[in-house]
Amino acid sequence: MKYLDEYRDAGIAHALAARVRQRVTRPWVLMEICGGQTHTIMRYGLPDLLPPEIELVHGPGCPVCVAPLEIVDRAIEIAGRPGVIFVSYGDMLRVPGSRSDLFRVKAAGGDVRIAYSPMEALKIARQNPERQVVFFGIGFETTAPANAMAVWQAKREGLANFSMLVSHVLVPPAIRLILASPSNRVQGFIAPGHVCSVMGFREYEALSAEFRVPMVVGGFEPVDLLESVAMLVDQLEDGRAELENQYSRSVTRAGSATAHRMMEEVFEVTDRQWRGIGPIAASGYRLRNAYAAFDAERVFGAGDICVEEPPECIAALVMQGLKKPLDCPAFGTRCTPDRPLGAPMVSSEGACAAYYAYRRHTGGGEAA
Ligand code: SF4
Repeated sequence: MKYLDEYRDAGIAHALAARVRQRVTRPWVLMEICGGQTHTIMRYGLPDLLPPEIELVHGPGCPVCVAPLEIVDRAIEIAGRPGVIFVSYGDMLRVPGSRSDLFRVKAAGGDVRIAYSPMEALKIARQNPERQVVFFGIGFETTAPANAMAVWQAKREGLANFSMLVSHVLVPPAIRLILASPSNRVQGFIAPGHVCSVMGFREYEALSAEFRVPMVVGGFEPVDLLESVAMLVDQLEDGRAELENQYSRSVTRAGSATAHRMMEEVFEVTDRQWRGIGPIAASGYRLRNAYAAFDAERVFGAGDICVEEPPECIAALVMQGLKKPLDCPAFGTRCTPDRPLGAPMVSSEGACAAYYAYRRHTGGGEAA
């Protein structure tokens, strides 16, 4: 297929769903890793197209959702300091910390600004040499190259008033955690296409072989996702466990060498806390010592805040495929996009936000 429209074609989508119906002989639990994929699945009502044997559960691939309370509280603490311009992606403003959120810091007079890339934060730093400019550098491997580039550029320019609050996490250690859990239900994974376009898929090949679980690198359109499901069902019904690449128009086995070089220069692997899930060894990036002058946690000495998650939020179980958003007693009542208890309800990639937008009000998504 050549054009984007073809990846939303209803006829192709229904043919793929029919292929799954013909092939499936027993129940299978499949997980899409990325929150962008979750939103497509819910928006186009893909679970309703598929036979009842196929259960789709939603993975931890929403960077805002897995950003721990501690890092949100650190961001709030830094953003409230006099003289600071705090720059963030818009999603993060409504994410609740333990007592407040960045939106309230802004409403109370804090200089909190929304940006679409770290380069905008660099520009603000150049324009405001008398102020400290802090960028909230969160995300998976997809945003890591741009964030690394911003820090590298700041060092090159000798920008003394720019720093980054880094909360980068890596997908493969989270998949390993899910697969190694005794309560794991997931039998096949749709691996995250955007992350793999940067990183390649060698790490996923290794996980697939080690745990004998089928994986398909999938895209983000409804036809991409239905084809990925069909490929996973073929593998499961055949008794195969391999890595296959459905998203070959964007993903190669090795990924982007340029991005790898930039990340390697600026970041090193570290243990990271995942919201609700807890610490996962070697599951994130932090700035290397050579870039310590641009590390907001070191610049502002805000590295020791430690808080508890709200017990009512079952986001951790949702992101491990053990529960669905509709299983949460707070869904749509005590937790809504206007008054969220957990990040998955406010993030543009959050599973709870997807269910709230496409399932709660309409009883289903748009027809593919
Ligand atoms: S509905 Fe709200 S409280 Fe429940 S899991 Fe989702 S974010 Fe957490």
